[in-house]
Amino acid sequence: MKNQRLFLKGNQSLWRRMSLSVLVLTVGAGAVIWLVSHVNLLNCSQKSATSSLSSQSVLLLNNNHVSDDKSASAVTQADGLSKVIASLEQQAQDQIRRWEVPAEFEGKTLSEVKLPGKEKVIALTFDDGPNPPYTQQILSILKKNNIKATFFLVGENVKDYPLLARQEVAEGHAIANHTWSHSYRHFSLDGATHEIDDTAALIDQTTGVKTSIFRPPGGFLHNGPADVAKSEKYFIAMWSADANDWKRPGVPTLVNNLLREVSPGGMALMHDGGGDRSQTVKALPQIISTLRNRGYKFLTVPELLEMQDSELKRAMPGVLSKK
Ligand SMILES: [Zn+2]
Repeated sequence: MKNQRLFLKGNQSLWRRMSLSVLVLTVGAGAVIWLVSHVNLLNCSQKSATSSLSSQSVLLLNNNHVSDDKSASAVTQADGLSKVIASLEQQAQDQIRRWEVPAEFEGKTLSEVKLPGKEKVIALTFDDGPNPPYTQQILSILKKNNIKATFFLVGENVKDYPLLARQEVAEGHAIANHTWSHSYRHFSLDGATHEIDDTAALIDQTTGVKTSIFRPPGGFLHNGPADVAKSEKYFIAMWSADANDWKRPGVPTLVNNLLREVSPGGMALMHDGGGDRSQTVKALPQIISTLRNRGYKFLTVPELLEMQDSELKRAMPGVLSKK
């Protein structure tokens, strides 16, 4: 059963999520047109409300048993509509929460995924947070550019800033495990298990996300936590392009560090936590616009894995369905 479910999910989950986003936007746009026509805020003709977008929103309202009674107040109707939109957003977040690592990536360590189709896609990743004010500043830049990224969270910081972790999920970003204490020391088995499991438990408790993606602090694969993560079937996400932003080399160098290493299917490493990240915040808009000009699209790490998963299965049906 799981096999079948994963197979279906691999092919459909990414697109289902994208379709859902389109639906949310469509309903949102429809809502604006529909509300404007109902409360007569503008002098435009009532005919504008008969656009297909508006029809879809009214249909959706009916499907969701929200009253379409013309005598109901605009305020009540707006309440109904915002509930529908909130419900669709909730569904998108629930999909993020329910996501599982595809079977072929369980226990694997990769710095990039190989996409047979050579799509120009990249995952922007931010480590060591949540960490005010830089996390909020980065979230705001990502929202302005309509980009979803991946945040690798430190348990101690999730404990201190739970609302920021929730905001990341609410805004559609992926979150993952980056240990509890972000120490480079060698851990006992118990210590390493605490680093992985207590962080995962707190992330779940705080955001509802059951993450099974791990990035080892400093990229250390042999000091304990990465071995525990592998034994628990986590996907170990390294990186293929490094801004070296923690060195605070100045914005132009930081931008160049990252841009010279990016490649399709890669994971780009930056930091929102661990210190003063004002240079990262300043560099990010330039990094995004340059990558866009080069033709890149931005995916989360789960989306990258889903993309390779479905492409591999299309190329070699049956080969990867081993569980
Ligand atoms: Zn780190």
